[in-house]
Parts: sequence; structure tokens; C-alpha cells
Amino acid sequence: MLSDVVETDLHFQLREAQQKITELEQALLEQRDRESLLQSVLDTIPVRVFWKERENLSYLGANRLFAEDGGVSNAADLIGKNDYDMVWAEQAELYRSDDRKVIDSETPKINYEEPQTSAHGETWLRTSKIPLRNSTGNVIGILGTYEDITPYKQAEQARDAALRRSELGLRLSQNIAKATTPRELLLTAMDSGLDYGNYTTSLSYIDLDQNGDPEYSTLVATSVPLDQNVVPLGTRFPIKDLPFSQIYFRDRDTPIIIEDVDTDPRLDEQTSYYYHLSRVSSTVNIPLYQNGRWVGILGIFWVEPHTFSEEERAHYAMLPRYITPVVDNLRLIEQLEANVEQLAMANALALENARLKSEFLATMSHELRTPLNAIEGFTSVILSNMGGVEYNHRTQHYVERVNTNSKRLLALINDFLDLSRIESGRLQLANSPFTPRQLVEKWQSQLGGLAQSKGLEFTVQVDERLPESLLGDEEQLSRVVVNLLSNAIKFTERGKVRLELHYGEDQWQLQVSDTGIGIPPHAREYIFEEFRQVDSSSKRKYGGTGLGLAIVQKLVRAMNGTITVESEVDEGSRFIVTLPLVG
Ligand code: ADP
Repeated sequence: MLSDVVETDLHFQLREAQQKITELEQALLEQRDRESLLQSVLDTIPVRVFWKERENLSYLGANRLFAEDGGVSNAADLIGKNDYDMVWAEQAELYRSDDRKVIDSETPKINYEEPQTSAHGETWLRTSKIPLRNSTGNVIGILGTYEDITPYKQAEQARDAALRRSELGLRLSQNIAKATTPRELLLTAMDSGLDYGNYTTSLSYIDLDQNGDPEYSTLVATSVPLDQNVVPLGTRFPIKDLPFSQIYFRDRDTPIIIEDVDTDPRLDEQTSYYYHLSRVSSTVNIPLYQNGRWVGILGIFWVEPHTFSEEERAHYAMLPRYITPVVDNLRLIEQLEANVEQLAMANALALENARLKSEFLATMSHELRTPLNAIEGFTSVILSNMGGVEYNHRTQHYVERVNTNSKRLLALINDFLDLSRIESGRLQLANSPFTPRQLVEKWQSQLGGLAQSKGLEFTVQVDERLPESLLGDEEQLSRVVVNLLSNAIKFTERGKVRLELHYGEDQWQLQVSDTGIGIPPHAREYIFEEFRQVDSSSKRKYGGTGLGLAIVQKLVRAMNGTITVESEVDEGSRFIVTLPLVG
């Protein structure tokens, strides 16, 4: 019985123990389930999660995304490691000091941005850390989460850079446009917010040859001289002697950046030497092209070798857009100013010439005309035999020649003086009534004899409708017609010379036509110029000064009229004077 009792008791205890074990097993299983559930939850959420213990700040656990950032596939592999063992060892100090602060202050640090060197490269994080507590509430470590905000950060940085660039561009274009000299342009262009360090700049103009190819480069401005040895302003270099000229031609839009003149493989020995002389160790040369024309070069020079950041390179690539149009304008303005100066000088010279000319003419009129009149007068007296002395044939002939030549000379001087009087505006035209028909008769009698002596028929025709009386300058009008008629008779050997007066509504015409030698087409323009004759050779057949038509044209214009000529070589010519009808 006892055994029964013992057995039963044992059995009972055994069962109880078994029951306990099963319960424990169950609890353990449940705990494991819960842990793996927790882990899989942690592994699924799109944030990084990690927790560290308090003592050494080594990892107690993490989720899958975090493990991947650390470059391992299993979060369990991180347990026991600290930040110095991770790919982000570079940031270990930063992370750990934050951890300490959170643990010591027992206050969370929420949503702050920090960099990370992860297995994927350089990234940006938005991190939160909170104190990790055990069941009794003691802080035993930290729990951290973060998300990768690199794409946003990059977009933000790009936006900032673009904003900075456009602000800079705006400021540049506003300031540069105000520059009135190449040096001002340099100084404003370099005052762009970028820290260039110890540098100087230069601007050169490029001069093109007749084919539009670059020929010379002229140094027009420098900012701060680096050295006394700089090339003087205004120095002209043949383009082919320029360092980099070949590169300029090949690559128009890209600045040529030399970080160190001693090591850059593109520089030949001579160029390096030249830079050494000028104490230049680093340089940027920016070709300036406007509408396909190479207009200038902007040079920037440093005493020390200089490493250029991406931002600086982008800046130099952008400069021409703002600078080139202004350089082009400055050049144009300089050119215009030079031209204006030249014109002003030419003008002053012309005025002075005109003054000298009229002074000269005034003297001429007196000094030449007076003795000539005497010669002409006395020879005329001798020829008319008024002195009562008989001369032999030869003497007679000489005196005749002196007389005709002095007459010609006098005519020339008179024409010349008349011309200059009309030109200088000193000729006052009368505005008095005259009778055209009477004038025609006068001209007929004046020139009829001459025509007759050459066996030419001289006819006139006056339009019935022409008013009896007109207003104008009878004397000058006579000069015009007599001149034209004399020419007609002079240049006609046979046939006729004709004068016609035509009537129009508000104008009238004087036409002088002949059947003479005519005027070739090319000469029709220039015969109205001073001293111009169709045949100006020394052997020419017809006398004359070449001033007649010039005087005629100027007089006609002074009367607000026009003169034209129609002609056929060997057939004849017709001069047409059209005048306003003033009655
Ligand atoms: P010139 O004193 O030589 O006649 P003009 O100025 O009067 O000077 O005329 C200039 C030139 O025009 C003349 O030399 C002549 O060649 C040409 N010319 C003028 N009128 C006539 C004409 N009626 N017939 C042919 N040629 C003429």
C-alpha cells in the first residue's frame, strides 16, 4: 500500500515535473516565436533600427537594412562590434558622442541629419536615438533608427547650387554691364563671391585678319599685377605665338585650366619658362567667342599651384556667357570713339581748308586779275593799232597770242572765282521779273554770229503758253543758257543748234540740243564735275576749262532746278534744264 502511495506520489511529482517542463518548453517556444516575430517585423519596416549596450556602446542587435548599410548580410554578425569596427569608422566618434549624450541625459535626440560612410558610399541620414531601458526602468543602452535621405539631400544641394549660380549670374550680368573700361570689367567679373585666393587677371582682345582668322592678341587690361615683370599693356602678340593657341582653336567653349605649370603635360618647355618668369604657377585661360568670332581671352593667374573644385570649374565655364557680350560692346565703343575722333579731326581740317581756300581766292581775284586785265587791255590796244605803230607779221602774231591767252586765263580765273562764290553760298540770286522771250532774243543775237561762223543753223522755239513774265535771276539764267549754247556750238561741226523753251504746269524747261559729237554714256555723270572733260588729253581738239558745266549745275540747283543730259555719240546731245515756274 505504501508502495502504492509512494509510487503514486512519485508518479505525481514526475507528472508535475513533466508538466513544468512542457510549460517551460512552451514558454521558451513562445518567447522564440515572439523574438523571431519581432525580428521579422524589424526586418520588414523601411527604417534602419539598431540598439547598443551602455558600457562599450557595442551593438546588441539591428535590423536587416542596417546590417546591409554595414556591409553584412546577417544582423547577428554585428553583435559585439562597435562603430570603430564598421565601414563608417570615420564617423564613429560623432555617433558615439551622441550615444553618450542620450544615455547620460536620458533624453532622446530626435530627427537630426548626419553623414554616413556606408557600404553604398557616402550617404545622408535622418537619425533618432532614445535611451534603452530594462524592465526595471534602468537605462542599459540606446535604441537608434534612421532613414537614408541621400536623394533628398542631393536634390536640395543641387537646388542650392543652382540658386547660388543664378544669383551669381544675375549679379555678374548686372555689374559687368556697368563696366566702361576693360579694367573695370575685370574687377567686376572677379568680384563674384568666389574666393579666388591670391590671383591676378588679364584681358586681351583678339584681332581678326581680312579672312576673319585670328591674327593678333592685344593685352588691354590687368587687375592686380603679380609681378613687376608683367607684359606692358598694348603689347600685341601674333596668335600663333600664344601658349595654347592650338587648344583655343580646337576647343572654343572650354576654359583651359592648368593646376600646376610644372607638371601639366600640355605645356611645352618654353611656355612653362614664360610662366616661371611671370611667377605664375597655376592659370585658367578662358577664350571668349561671340557669334562664332573669337573676340578675346580672359586669363586668371595664381602664384601658387591651385586645385580647382567642380564648383570653380563650373564657374569658369559660365563666365564667358556674361563677359563676352560686354567685351564685344567695349571694343565696338572704343572703335566708334576712335572713328569719331578721326572724323572730328577731318572735319576741323576741312573747315580750316575751306577758310584757307576762300582767303586764297580773295587774294587771287585781286592779285591775278588786276595784272591780267592790264595785259589783255594793252595787247588789245596794240592789236587795234590804236598806237599808230605798224608791226611786222611776226610781232603781230605774238601779240595776238598773248592777247588770246590772257583772255583764256582771265576766263578761267573768273569761272573759278564764280564757282567758289556759288559753292561758299556767297552768291545771292535775284528774284525779279524778266521776260523769257526777250531773253531768247538776246541769246540769239549773242551767239548767232558764232553759230553762223561755223556754218551751223541756230533755231529757237518758245512754247506759246509760257507766261510773258517770270520771276528769277535773269543774269544767272543767261549764264546757264549761254554756257550750254556755247558748248553746243563748240562741240558741233555741222548741222544745227536748237534752243527750246517748254511750258509745264508748275515748271518750265530750257532745252539746248545739237547735232555734234555727243557724249559717251560713262562721261554723262562726270562732265558736271569740276575740271572734267570727255577728252582731257593734252592733244585735245576743243579748248575750255572744264568748269562750265560745274558752274551751270550749281546755278541750276541754286535756282531749285535740275539739269539732265541725253546724248548719242556722233548724233548729238540735249541738255535739259527744268526750273520751278514762278510768275
Ligand atoms: P569745257 O570748258 O571743257 O567745255 P564744260 O564743263 O562746259 O567744260 O564741259 C565739260 C565737258 O563736257 C566738255 O569738255 C565736253 O567733253 C563735254 N561736253 C559739254 N557739252 C557738250 C556738248 N554739247 N557736246 C559734246 N560734249 C559736250
